[in-house]
Amino acid sequence: MERTMKAAVVRAFGAPLEIEDRPVPKPGPGQVLVRIRASGVCHTDLHAADGDWPVKPRLPLVPGHEGVGFVVELGEGVERLKVGDCVGIAWLHSACGVCEYCTSGWETLCKCQTNTGYSVDGTFAEYALADADYAIPIPEGSNLLEIAPILCAGVTVYNALRRTEARKGDWVAISGIGGLGHMAIQYARLMGLQVCAVDIDDEKLEFAEELGAAFAINARTVDPGEALKERIGGAHGALVTAASVRAYEQAYRMVRPGGCMVMIGLSDGELKVPIYDTVINAVTIRGSVVGSRRVMREAMEFAAHGRIKAAIHRRPLEDINRIFEELHQGTVEGRFVIDFGGPDLAYDENRIPSPMPWA
Ligand SMILES: [Zn+2]
Ligand SMILES: [Zn+2]
Repeated sequence: MERTMKAAVVRAFGAPLEIEDRPVPKPGPGQVLVRIRASGVCHTDLHAADGDWPVKPRLPLVPGHEGVGFVVELGEGVERLKVGDCVGIAWLHSACGVCEYCTSGWETLCKCQTNTGYSVDGTFAEYALADADYAIPIPEGSNLLEIAPILCAGVTVYNALRRTEARKGDWVAISGIGGLGHMAIQYARLMGLQVCAVDIDDEKLEFAEELGAAFAINARTVDPGEALKERIGGAHGALVTAASVRAYEQAYRMVRPGGCMVMIGLSDGELKVPIYDTVINAVTIRGSVVGSRRVMREAMEFAAHGRIKAAIHRRPLEDINRIFEELHQGTVEGRFVIDFGGPDLAYDENRIPSPMPWA
């Protein structure tokens, strides 16, 4: 008898997702079948379901690219994973492995990449396929619901912080304290950076200070560029997680000479910057998208054992359309995580924590 699973499926762009019984997929050569324990919900899933982007996904589609779970079946030729291993399935589903990008640590730019929950079915389902070479090992003892958002939100902010090139003791301004921003503050603190939080919502700014931001600026009442320059001479790095042109314009003025602004909030807007100031102040502006498997490994190690706490809201798969609605409204603090049931912890919680690789 054919095994079936529950999955949330996009049948038409912009229409509600349908919860369907589908056959459990069979792992092909080099693939593994993963029983999904939890899957974070990302804004990209909304854009996939609405068909917002120029390259549209093929329908029907199961979205989701922050999935964690346990390997239950191996495809032909898989040797590095075994049944029972705990893995994550992230946005980068597979890449060619041989192009200029793949061989230089920039596999996230590979032209031949496939993307989970976009060009291949994702993790809003009880089972999903992973490419064994691109499945992300989950650190022992991790809480699977809390670690799921690291697979996209976490690695995105961690990589962006690295790419500001700010060093221990330097200042970073984090603009937008939502699903990405609240994790960025925690990563920045663990990386030894000093944080200034910028948002237009006092409650979120209070939360930012609780998470370790040294100070907070409400960009609705104060010019954040001026305020930062006055107080600390400008930030060494600025991270923009908000998807608004205004936030980008403000962040550009938050960095000190020689500083770097990293863009991660997706928007179809256009940013205008003064050429004279950019040249004279040697300011860098840089885009950043998720992170390679190597960077992912670092992001995971930082997050292991609850060092990074994503503020999560557990929901069942059946709530997916309600979750999308709330994401559309943009009122959510933290991250929605779909709870498929099963053990909460990866492997054994009593094992000794693995040391951080850089310690
Ligand atoms: Zn994502
Ligand atoms: Zn490639």
